[in-house]
Amino acid sequence: MKSPRSHSRTRLKMTEIRPDLPAPLSPLRGLARNLRWAWHAPTRALFERLDPSLWEGTRHNPVRLLWEVAPARLDAVVADTSYLEAVNAAAADLEAYLRDDATWFRRTHPAVKSRIAYFSAEFGIAECLRIYSGGLGVLAGDHLKSASDLGVPLVGVGLMYREGYFTQRVDAVGVQHDLYDRADFERLPITLEVGPDGQPVIVDLPFLDHRIHARIWRADVGRVPLYLLDTDLDTNRVEDRRVTDRLYGGDTEHRLRQEYVLGIGGMRALRLVGCDADVVHLNEGHAAFAAVEHVREIVESEQSSFAEAVERARRGVVFTTHTPVPAGHDYFPRNLLQQYLGGYIWEMKQPWDDFVGLGTFEGESRFCMTALALRLSSRRNGVSRLHGAVSREMWQVIWPDAPADEVPITHITNGVHLRTWVAPETEALYTRYVGERWNDATDELQWHRANHIPHAELWAARTRQRERLVNDVRLALAAQVARRGGDPAWTLGALDPDALTIVFARRFATYKRAVLLLSQEERLYRLLTGNRKLQFVFAGKAHPRDEPGKAALQRIHQFAGRPELRGSFVFLEGYDLAIARSLVQGADVWLNLPVRPYEASGTSGMKATANGALNLSIPDGWWAEAWAEHNRLNVPVGWSIAPAEGPNEAGLPDHGAGASQPDRELVDRRDADALYDLLENDVIPLYYDRDADGLPAAWLERVRSAVRQLVPFFNTHRMVAEYVDTSYLWEPTGERMAAPDRRSAG
Ligand SMILES: *Cc1c(COP(=O)(O)O)cnc(C)c1O
Repeated sequence: MKSPRSHSRTRLKMTEIRPDLPAPLSPLRGLARNLRWAWHAPTRALFERLDPSLWEGTRHNPVRLLWEVAPARLDAVVADTSYLEAVNAAAADLEAYLRDDATWFRRTHPAVKSRIAYFSAEFGIAECLRIYSGGLGVLAGDHLKSASDLGVPLVGVGLMYREGYFTQRVDAVGVQHDLYDRADFERLPITLEVGPDGQPVIVDLPFLDHRIHARIWRADVGRVPLYLLDTDLDTNRVEDRRVTDRLYGGDTEHRLRQEYVLGIGGMRALRLVGCDADVVHLNEGHAAFAAVEHVREIVESEQSSFAEAVERARRGVVFTTHTPVPAGHDYFPRNLLQQYLGGYIWEMKQPWDDFVGLGTFEGESRFCMTALALRLSSRRNGVSRLHGAVSREMWQVIWPDAPADEVPITHITNGVHLRTWVAPETEALYTRYVGERWNDATDELQWHRANHIPHAELWAARTRQRERLVNDVRLALAAQVARRGGDPAWTLGALDPDALTIVFARRFATYKRAVLLLSQEERLYRLLTGNRKLQFVFAGKAHPRDEPGKAALQRIHQFAGRPELRGSFVFLEGYDLAIARSLVQGADVWLNLPVRPYEASGTSGMKATANGALNLSIPDGWWAEAWAEHNRLNVPVGWSIAPAEGPNEAGLPDHGAGASQPDRELVDRRDADALYDLLENDVIPLYYDRDADGLPAAWLERVRSAVRQLVPFFNTHRMVAEYVDTSYLWEPTGERMAAPDRRSAG
């Protein structure tokens, strides 16, 4: 605490949650502030016990919960010794977690003093902190959580969006409506960074012909601080206050303004809070201006030339590219770029064209953030083996003299943070059969013991998790139907807790092809009304400007609305982290139908696997790897729709054009046939093939095979350790730096 004299009233409010909290409950404040509760079930249970309906009503926001819980409830739990014991135990556990000196990083790299700054436009950490839209953000959140667990000295940098990403509502005819509400930052698990004088720390940046200011919020993700910039300040012009309003909200210019604040403002924020980094990790091209600011720092501090500074800066920059979908890469018109960065580059006394050259390439006149990130980094990777190969081909334009397989982009396959995603039932099995240290990233061998999980116990866990999914879906459907003015009575009987449950939950991006399942409606209809019961749950948002995505959503919604399918084919609104958790934990089959090779990795299938579901997926992204490499052993780990061929079959993304229409239709047709054949001949029969004990023995064999082989690899502990060992701590040698990357030398 700083000196009390400097505390303004607002600061007191900011630093202390609910001052009238009874003393025995005061540890709840610290527990609420540190987002470790997002992956520590006993702490979450404490918040839920305090007031279950308020916990739901605040979308699992413990800070709001503490502010809003009724005094009578507080009195009740103060009188409950078991509650107080649990509070103290959780507080002690958090303290021990934060103090732990024997982390993986400390043990394996005792002498290393580096600090890594991880930049991302979105972070999905907890459902109440709505600064994520989908897979990219969830991956960033899981990255921070694993970095914290492993003790990696990493800090996150992002933006604190006032309205976040939209809340999805779907009306009676299936049209998506995008709702935005303004978050109350003082009622979130984040803290304003203030200086010794008690005043907020302010980032001050040149902006067009004036300046823009941003304050800095800190979210504590276990041991990892995440700094979030916020321009909604009354010292800013009205339009500048809106820079951090919405995630992926406005037009191209809005995007440029956000990326300027994220990259350049983010680097300056780190200096202001005393957190300078040796390594900068750009999670996707959105943050690439951070590397430019890094160059500027070197030019300024070492009086070096621009070309020299670029060479030096690159050594400390790691870049991860996340998608081969052209729309996933930012391009800015040069004149727009000049408006915002012209003065900045001029102050560096650099020719504008040298800078623009870093972001352009043959055949492209706009400035490309991915090209910039590729040129300003020395370790670059895609997010699965296949995506690495696709990226090398896609970005060969940056290294025109190199053959595709020598383009210096590698791959580090994505993962998921297991403690965030694994259901308590499955976790208990892991603890019992794999071992207390099942979550230890460095011991993959222990997972052979997953083979010892008895069928009956595995099935009991699967059944409990499915029952919870069914219950969650019924509640959500009831609210959904009531909101539209319908009678929700039927939702009580929606879904069958014993039926084969197939889930398709992900963004409604066109390449994810949700509607492929409807391409042979009669066949689907027969399956849904057959005597071996099958049910589908769909969830996902379409980007507000993605009309084809919205149309696909509408088709799914209309199909779900057929009276005779009501309750066996359902669409859930408002896909978010909480819905994702429920669905990945309860699904029997996780369905993914991307157009190969557009799914760079995909991670939801990994979450489902870790909970004992089987994947039924196009061999794209992570599944291409999981399927090919872990399937040689006897029992298959799931199902692959269509053979794993070369990455080129559906037309390699070529910065815009894509495959011709007839090719697409051919591929769609082939994949749909394969999907239906698998459902009819493999998936459904296997699920309903029961042994003398009523258990689907062959099915459970597949589950054990998938768990044993996939869980130890497709997790973020393994992934972060790989980033540490191959990218963060990798010292480029002179020889390797002489990669065929000529343009970046200026
Ligand atoms: C995991 C997750 C995703 C990513 O799913 P994909 O498999 O990559 O499509 C998207 N949204 C949420 C809420 C998630 O939890």
